[in-house]
Amino acid sequence: MSDLAQGVTQFQHDVFPGKAALFADLATTHSPHTLFIGCSDARVVPELITSSEPGELFVVRTAGNLVPAYAPGGDGVAASIEYAVAVLGVARIVVCGHSGCGAMTAVAEHHDLTAMPTIAQWLRHTDAAAALVGAATDRVPRLVRANVAAQLSNLATHPAVARGLAAGTVHAEGWVFDIASGEVAVVGRSGSLTAA
Ligand SMILES: [Zn+2]
Repeated sequence: MSDLAQGVTQFQHDVFPGKAALFADLATTHSPHTLFIGCSDARVVPELITSSEPGELFVVRTAGNLVPAYAPGGDGVAASIEYAVAVLGVARIVVCGHSGCGAMTAVAEHHDLTAMPTIAQWLRHTDAAAALVGAATDRVPRLVRANVAAQLSNLATHPAVARGLAAGTVHAEGWVFDIASGEVAVVGRSGSLTAA
């Protein structure tokens, strides 16, 4: 639906009434079970691919599903991770990459990003994954997987996550969603990450 106002009206008329009790409960409670970190890509919709209802997923979406390693100073991604783990107490964290990722394609195929300095800087968070993949023939899908593993490692540098992983109160895993088939492959778990 390209007309968003019409979409809101349709939601209010056709969807909301059936979930009124759920939303009434959610109005005063917020206790998602999972922190879902996915790509901003419009084709990868966390609630849709996990059949989740409102209130279940705390979602962070970034270009390339990148999770910068913890650094003093903080940023929006770090604050969201800390809030999900330390305040909301999520038990599970998913980092989800996907097929045909524009960010991974740009890195794997060395696209010229000189006119997009912000993107170029942001994508430096894939340096470790890119170093693993090198010049392999199927670089994009390999980088998608290696990047998920690398971002899981970055995730573990955030103090709240490190604490949760050590205590066993948080489990982290990496997924790759295939857009064409709808399949989800688990490519890594905390403590046993799969590289490329
Ligand atoms: Zn993507």
